[in-house]
Amino acid sequence: MCQVLVVGGGPVGMTMASELARYGISARIVDKAPARTDKSKALVLWSRTLELLDDGPGGADAFISAGLVTRTIRIFNAAEPMARLDLDSVASPFPFALMLPQSETERLLETRLAGQGIRVERNVEVTAIDGSAAGVTAVLSHADGSQETVQADWLIGCDGAHSLVRHSVGAQFEGETLASDWVLGDVHLTGYRHGSDIEVHWHREGVLIVFPIGSDRFRVIADCPMAATAQAPVPDMAEIQSLIDRRGAAGLTAHDPVWLAGFRINDRKVSAYRHGRIFLAGDAAHIHSPAGGQGMNTGMQDAINLAWKLAMVAHGTGADALLDSYTPERSAVGDRVLAEAGRLTKVATLRNPLVQDIRNWAFHTILGFAAARHAAANTASELAVHYPHSPLNGPTAPGGLKAGDRVPPVPGKACTDRPVFTLCAEAGIATDIIAAHPDLVATAALPPLPGAALSLVRPDGYLAASGDDPAVVLRYLDAVRTLGRAG
Ligand SMILES: Cc1cc2nc3c(=O)[nH]c(=O)nc-3n(C[C@H](O)[C@H](O)[C@H](O)COP(=O)(O)OP(=O)(O)OC[C@H]3O[C@@H](n4cnc5c(N)ncnc54)[C@H](O)[C@@H]3O)c2cc1C
Repeated sequence: MCQVLVVGGGPVGMTMASELARYGISARIVDKAPARTDKSKALVLWSRTLELLDDGPGGADAFISAGLVTRTIRIFNAAEPMARLDLDSVASPFPFALMLPQSETERLLETRLAGQGIRVERNVEVTAIDGSAAGVTAVLSHADGSQETVQADWLIGCDGAHSLVRHSVGAQFEGETLASDWVLGDVHLTGYRHGSDIEVHWHREGVLIVFPIGSDRFRVIADCPMAATAQAPVPDMAEIQSLIDRRGAAGLTAHDPVWLAGFRINDRKVSAYRHGRIFLAGDAAHIHSPAGGQGMNTGMQDAINLAWKLAMVAHGTGADALLDSYTPERSAVGDRVLAEAGRLTKVATLRNPLVQDIRNWAFHTILGFAAARHAAANTASELAVHYPHSPLNGPTAPGGLKAGDRVPPVPGKACTDRPVFTLCAEAGIATDIIAAHPDLVATAALPPLPGAALSLVRPDGYLAASGDDPAVVLRYLDAVRTLGRAG
């Protein structure tokens, strides 16, 4: 018996298990693969993910030390510079994209988990699941052929795009496969002139993007017409070099490939992330174009969103209805990510020369405005993720942040080992609230946020409620405990 069974030890499953362990929830995490990925797949950790990792056990330092800081995306019309997007305008302690191969992100997450006393059980496949109102039963198949039946209070499907958990709960993965092929070269390059900047080349025949990974290693991706084969063909080095030469990055020489792959883009998402005691997170719930590099980050943030709610319910400090907010909050984020990634992909792969010219002119013009650059950087870095329509939103003071808005990391906030709200309050007001809800609120108050004498910040760093009257916050915390009982 365990409280939570996490199915899948990819980046999302490991984030989930780590957050649960941090809050004192006993979780098992199993993965059918013998080892974590050795592929670079998701290359970027964005500012918001770094902020959330920084709030967890061990902080974000290990990730930052292992990665490459990128501050600028340069957009070219073939070889001609057209626009640039500087990420350092984002208001975050991490105003950059951190380039880190997924294999490294997973290694660091596994190290973090090991430090928490959790081991990913590999070569263990979940083959059947049965959920009821009382709990979940899962059948685990071990490498030696033995089978084990596990009872858990909750089960989280972090088992990727082909999720067995998603199939078991009967959730439709609605969407489409786009009609183009993509080539990916994780290669070494000589001759790169732009340090750690990302280069995007919009060429008449398609797009070519060059991402630095560090130590002369780069990711090159490009779109190509769809082949009449069941899978996108795997490119060879001659094809990668030819794309580089043709599409505007001439002068670069590709050599020593680490990984060559072809892929097709699927845009698919479930509508419900919660199915009773079973939840879906990460690629099991949403897959989309890699444009914008949001997939893994969105999945890791699904996990962080769910973990504190599950921990509160498991500890008895929050009512079960807290868990009902997982679908509306994260499904809305998933919808936005799919729409944005889809738009970016369409814009990058336009074929009509006239429309390409209009696109180039529009981008050059729009990104000439600081406000537009800032908005684009906020979206890319996921600082714009917020929950304006969450059922968890309480009342807020006029003029300040709104409920569901991201609260910039509060200096001095400690990594908590139980899921608690943080009170940002003027001296003296906090004491009564903390005394009334010692198990729901962090024991120390932090300085007030602009616009309200009192702000209550969720464990995942979004504003829950604010006001000048302590009664507002007290009513909110009472509701967290009793939500659902009333209904
Ligand atoms: C070529 C390529 C390039 C990509 N580029 C980017 C990018 O630039 N940016 C970005 O954000 N994302 C990118 N992605 C997507 C990114 O890799 C995924 O979003 C990310 O891996 C999702 O993490 P996950 O933990 O949800 O799923 P996964 O990483 O797929 O992990 C799922 C795990 O579940 C395990 N599993 C599956 N079924 C079972 C079962 N029945 N029992 C036990 N274990 C099971 C699997 O073995 C696997 O380890 C790319 C993906 C690919 C393939």
